[in-house]
Amino acid sequence: MRLAMISLHTSPLQQPGSGDAGGMNVYVLSTATHLARRGVEVDIFTRATRKGQGEIVEVDPGLRVINIVAGPYEGVSKEALPTQLAAFAGGMLQWAHCHNERYDLIHSHYWLSGQVGWLIRDLWRVPLVHTAHTLAAVKNAHRSAEDSPESEARRICEQQLVDNADVLVVNTEQEEADLIHHYDAEESRIRVIPPGADTELFTPGSDRATERARRELGIPLHTKVIAFVGRLQTFKGPQVLIKAAAELFRRDPHQALRIVMCGGPSGQHATPEEYRQLASSLGIERKVRFLDPRPPAELVALYQAADIVAVPSYNESFGLVAVEAQASGTPVVAARVGGLPLAVADGETGILVAGHDPHDWADALAELLDNDEKRIAMGEAAQRWARKFSWQASAEKLAALYDEALAMDVEDCPQRHARGD
Ligand code: UDP
Repeated sequence: MRLAMISLHTSPLQQPGSGDAGGMNVYVLSTATHLARRGVEVDIFTRATRKGQGEIVEVDPGLRVINIVAGPYEGVSKEALPTQLAAFAGGMLQWAHCHNERYDLIHSHYWLSGQVGWLIRDLWRVPLVHTAHTLAAVKNAHRSAEDSPESEARRICEQQLVDNADVLVVNTEQEEADLIHHYDAEESRIRVIPPGADTELFTPGSDRATERARRELGIPLHTKVIAFVGRLQTFKGPQVLIKAAAELFRRDPHQALRIVMCGGPSGQHATPEEYRQLASSLGIERKVRFLDPRPPAELVALYQAADIVAVPSYNESFGLVAVEAQASGTPVVAARVGGLPLAVADGETGILVAGHDPHDWADALAELLDNDEKRIAMGEAAQRWARKFSWQASAEKLAALYDEALAMDVEDCPQRHARGD
C-alpha cells in the first residue's frame, strides 16, 4: 500500500511545543513510523519552510517527508496559509508526476491539508481519509473569554471536508459526537482511533535519574514541582496554572514549590513574556521557571522530575502530554474537557477539574501536593494506565481502516458537495 499523507501547515520533523508544532506533529510522525514498520510505504507532504532542508527527506525505511515549495519559506503565518493551498496542491501533483509516484490513498491532517486532499482525491480517484485534529466549531464552543474565535471560513472548509472525505478519523467518541452535532457528519463514515504514547521512552526514572534531572533544572530535591508542557497559548491554559500557583502561595507563602513551564510561543495573542509578566504581577516570578521546548528524549526527564503535570486546556482533542506524563509515572491534574477524561482516570491516576477557576485548580493541586502517599500511589497507577495507549495499536487500526477505504468505490465523476452550512 502506498500512502500520501498531507501535513501542510507543519512538518512532522519540526520540534513540537511551540508555534504550530504540537500533538499533531507527534501524531503524524508516530503513526507514519509504525505504518511504515507494518509495510505501508508512506510519503508525508508538507510545506517547505527553510532553504536547504531538501526536497526529499528519508526518515526511516518506507517513510519519507516531501517538502513542497509553496510560497516563501518564512513569514507566511498560519492565517495566510489558505492563500497557498493552490500552490501546494500544484506542487504536490507536479512532484508526484515528475517522480512517477502513484498512491493508493490520501490521509490529510487538519483542514488546510484536507482541502488539498479533497482536490487531489478527485484527480487521482483514490479514497481520502481525513483527520481534523481540532474543529473550529468545537474550539469556539469552549474558548476562554480572553481568546479570539476561529473564523467562519475555517468552519465552512471543515464542513466541506466532513461532506466529501471518504472516511473521517477521530481520536475519541466525544469527537465523533462533536462531528455529528456541529457538522451533521454521517456516523457511518467516522472511525474512532485513539492515539498512543511512546511508552518505551516515557517511563518512570530511577531515583538517581530524578535527582539528576532536578539538579539540571536547578530545583532543590525537597521542593515540589508542578510542570506544564506544551505550546504557550491561552487555549492551553498556562495562565490558569500560574493563577492557581499564586493562590497556593497565598495560602502558604513559605511552601517549597516550583512551577516549570516548558514550551514556546504559539498563536497570535500570547508570548512567554506575557506569562512571565502575569507571574510577576501575582508576585510569584521567582517560583516559576520557563524552559524552551525540548525533544522527547529530554522531555522525559522533566516529566520524571515533576510531582504533578498540569493540563489546564480549554479543550483537548486527546492530550498527549497527559499520557506521556502518566507513562513517566507522574500523576496529572487536567481539565475535564475533550479527550482528557479518557486520558486520565479521575481519582486513580490524577484529578479532573471542572472549569478553570484558579481556586478549584489550587484545591486539586493541593490535594496531591499535601498527600505524598496518595500522589505516589497515583503515579504508580498512572504508569500502568498509560501502557494501554500505544502508537503500534493506533497504526494497526489505521492500516485496517485503509484496507476498508481501498475497498470503497471512489466514484469516477464524484458529486462534489459544496455546501458549507
Ligand atoms: N512536546 C515536545 N517538547 C516540548 C513540549 C511538547 O516534544 O517541549 C510534545 C509533547 O511531547 C506532546 C506534544 O508536544 O507529544 C503536545 O501534544 P498535546 O496533545 O499535549 O497538545 P497539542 O500540541 O496537540 O495541543
